[in-house]
Amino acid sequence: MPNEINRQVCLASRPSGWVTEENFTLTEEAMPEPGDGQLVVRNIFMSVDPYMRGRMNDTKSYVPPFEVGKVLQAGVVGQVVASKHADFAEGDHVVGMLGWENYSLSDGKQLRKIESGAVPLSYHLGILGMPGMTAYVGLHKIAEAQSDDRVFVSAASGAVGSVVGQLAKLHGCRVAGCAGSDEKVALLTDELGYDAAFNYHSSKSLPKSIANACPEGIDVNFENVGGEIFEAALWNMRDFGRVALCGMIAHYNDEKMQPGPRGMGVIIARRLRIQGFIVFDHPEVCEEYVLKAANWLAEGKLTYRETVAEGIENAPGAFISMLKGENTGKQIVQLAAQ
Ligand code: NDP
Repeated sequence: MPNEINRQVCLASRPSGWVTEENFTLTEEAMPEPGDGQLVVRNIFMSVDPYMRGRMNDTKSYVPPFEVGKVLQAGVVGQVVASKHADFAEGDHVVGMLGWENYSLSDGKQLRKIESGAVPLSYHLGILGMPGMTAYVGLHKIAEAQSDDRVFVSAASGAVGSVVGQLAKLHGCRVAGCAGSDEKVALLTDELGYDAAFNYHSSKSLPKSIANACPEGIDVNFENVGGEIFEAALWNMRDFGRVALCGMIAHYNDEKMQPGPRGMGVIIARRLRIQGFIVFDHPEVCEEYVLKAANWLAEGKLTYRETVAEGIENAPGAFISMLKGENTGKQIVQLAAQ
């Protein structure tokens, strides 16, 4: 594929408060050529994820910040189009960390080969990828869900939340959740098997809405949101409840740090365990999940939804829409034909 143009999205500036399209620039360069031990991937699908907002800030965290002026990184599924790497051949399909761009040069270290045809390629960025693994690790390893537990999930219709609810149901739990629109709530109860759900935007009292959705209280809170939803969930916890603290998306665009949840005495009074986690610290559990989830998908026991934007130029818009809740299920960007 000589003379192909590689369109790329770079970080133009660090956001202060809400991220905007002005924080990104679209640039072009020639398609890369592999040197010895390298390969070039034609990127087909790319993932936009909430954690990327944190990487746009210049702060120390579990992953380094994105660099201003450089191409942003993302989980990508693609096809090898040129290889001087012993482990990868032209035509192989791969998944891994590459760039917000049409073609990525790689040394293969953050790439894994995947079979094409068994499931749609994009599933490796969602239900069979990092978000699905996060759901499984948080529910089973961190919260140690028991089959008779009452589980509550925030951002329940999103990439992680939609899998948490289904896994909890497969495990025998009672599951309730909240989401940001009536359509998403209908998806939770009608398609994903949630026992109860509510729209948090139309809730007059979050603690009461959660109490209605979880009349016997919560044993496991799978927390994706933080802020007032987290606080209200805590107040509905049962004795010895567990919180898998997965994400705090309500705060990712805050200009200043907000005060934490009120009424923290409840953690002592109800002997709660709250544990934060990062999915990549549990590679063996992730592997176990992917094998199980592939079977559950084949057996029709898992349902999966995606919202797909088209073209690298629309990646920043897709990322911002996802942060605003305009996605249902996993937000991805299709960069090329399969
Ligand atoms: P989603 O697909 O759920 O997309 C984000 C969703 O968050 C939006 O669709 C929106 O849905 C909801 N949301 C946004 N702002 C708010 C708000 N202020 N209050 C309530 N809900 C809000 O994203 P993911 O499933 O990929 O991620 C979910 C969470 O999991 C995030 O916090 C993320 O950072 C975290 N995460 C953590 C990992 C880990 O290893 N710990 C790994 C992967 C993800 P709605 O319309 O319902 O508001």
